[in-house]
Amino acid sequence: MSNDEHIENESDFFKATDKNPSNIMPEKLTLDSALQFACHPGVSCFTACCHNIKIVLTPYDILILRKRLGLAAHEFITEYTEPTFLEKTDMPGVQLKLRGEKNGCPFVTSEGCTVYEDRPTACRYYPVGMADFHEGGTNDADEEKFFFLVKEPHCKGHEEPKKWTIGEWRADQGVDLRDDMNKEWLRLVMRRKSFGHQATLSEAAKRMFFMASTDLETFRKFIFESSFLDTYEVDDETLGKIKDDDIELMLFANTYLANTLFGAPGLKIKDEKIKAKVAEIKKRQDEAMIEAEKEYQELKAERDRMRKEREENN
Ligand code: SF4
Ligand code: SF4
Repeated sequence: MSNDEHIENESDFFKATDKNPSNIMPEKLTLDSALQFACHPGVSCFTACCHNIKIVLTPYDILILRKRLGLAAHEFITEYTEPTFLEKTDMPGVQLKLRGEKNGCPFVTSEGCTVYEDRPTACRYYPVGMADFHEGGTNDADEEKFFFLVKEPHCKGHEEPKKWTIGEWRADQGVDLRDDMNKEWLRLVMRRKSFGHQATLSEAAKRMFFMASTDLETFRKFIFESSFLDTYEVDDETLGKIKDDDIELMLFANTYLANTLFGAPGLKIKDEKIKAKVAEIKKRQDEAMIEAEKEYQELKAERDRMRKEREENN
């Protein structure tokens, strides 16, 4: 994959107003690189980037926003989001549902963002994108990351005199926590993207990905009220954490999805379940063998009968 392709993908992922790749500066930046930028109510374009925009929500974004609004997950999803596909894959996700004549974010007013402290990851990144070369999903500690600047004509923040380093800007926007919280989920999407459509993902698997990514309340019911715990080995400490703690549950959901969708380690099926499955498969095979043998004998008898008939007629 070329760098350009990669950069375009990363910048598209969260927030896109303009798909023109020429707005992505062709310079690889580090945390120490200089950035001249400021966004505040005094800029002439204030809230321009909160309209006509695609803002994809991560599971952490959904969790934080719905808690702020005091809504159940399904209420938040229905009221404030609409379905989308993630990163040009067949993985289902949600984006903020734009409203009004100006096609604006549901949280924008002329005074600015009404959920500013809990705004989504996308709104914190802009205009500094991050690219990660190991998008295929490795656990390599030396992942090669770099940053890049998105400079869209409507954004006048680049004309402001305020100077930072990329690291200072990111700290100011509180993106480190978001990076941590989104990391494993993003890897799932990137894995799907890397495998492309060579690997089939069933509709049921996609539905599970959507549910676990957007509705932790339903995912918790799935863990504690289905046959899940009869199937998987989950230690008591983990169970205690995911029972009440939504963040722990969200992280567990990522492990579960990586395991079931891509065979990643992290969850173990109980031995007795594996044995029962093996016995079931063997039983099915045995039954199929008996059936095949029966069909063979019937065909053979029919062939013998026809042969005999021919001989008698001759
Ligand atoms: S959440 Fe806030 S910052 Fe993000 S697009 Fe909406 S109004 Fe703008
Ligand atoms: S300066 Fe840029 S980021 Fe800030 S409101 Fe204007 S368009 Fe949005």
